[in-house]
Amino acid sequence: MCGIIGYTGSRQAMSILLKGLENLEYRGYDSAGLSILNDVEGIRTFRSAGKLENLKNLISAEGENASQEGSSGVGHTRWATHGAPTEQNAHPHSDCTGDLIVVHNGIVENFSEIKEALEKSGHVFTSETDSETIPHLIESLLLETKSIDEAVRNAALRIRGANAIVVISKSEPGKILAVRIGNAGGITIGYGEGEMYVASDLPALIEHTTNIAHLNGDEIAIIDKNTATFTDLSGKLIPKTPT
Ligand code: GLU
Repeated sequence: MCGIIGYTGSRQAMSILLKGLENLEYRGYDSAGLSILNDVEGIRTFRSAGKLENLKNLISAEGENASQEGSSGVGHTRWATHGAPTEQNAHPHSDCTGDLIVVHNGIVENFSEIKEALEKSGHVFTSETDSETIPHLIESLLLETKSIDEAVRNAALRIRGANAIVVISKSEPGKILAVRIGNAGGITIGYGEGEMYVASDLPALIEHTTNIAHLNGDEIAIIDKNTATFTDLSGKLIPKTPT
């Protein structure tokens, strides 16, 4: 079972994401990665096969040359189902522009038909995963609507299988969208003071907050640093209070 952690707030996301991934290691994984969003430099993604230690080493080696600042981002530990456990297949995955970032837990059962259609319309894939169809699908749906919320909802309606998906975009820094389709591994939203978290599992959140809300199947959370709004896949608001 893979692990997912997301953060948006005012603190540096990098160390929060790495610590969150450490706390999810017990779930088992074969590769790991994270993306940080920085208002000035955009998105920086780091991915590595094998243990989290490899990812940390990669980040410290690259850190000397480039900024790792950013107050929102997502991290993932992968348990490969489609594609070998390589750096190329590690999450996060992105769309063609690199502006849309996705981490994913589960299996997109209809990924080959979605991928084939997207490739026909010019999308270029860089991994063997089913997961990479998700950012490209959202990208293509963004041509029909300018709203990322709507594009993510429409993508969720086309994806079959049990899936947990977390999305960030350069076009809306500080915003995180989390989707649970069917009976996928959990998505928990954590409420902090002027900061919010999303995680596949409580151990990633417990040191930050015990104020949480869970996503049920076919629900979406739209999160910024102050709050989360919940809808179903048609966009209808779902009242939910953290407990
Ligand atoms: N099916 C996806 C992959 O192979 C996600 C696996 C997971 O849940 O970690 O990349």
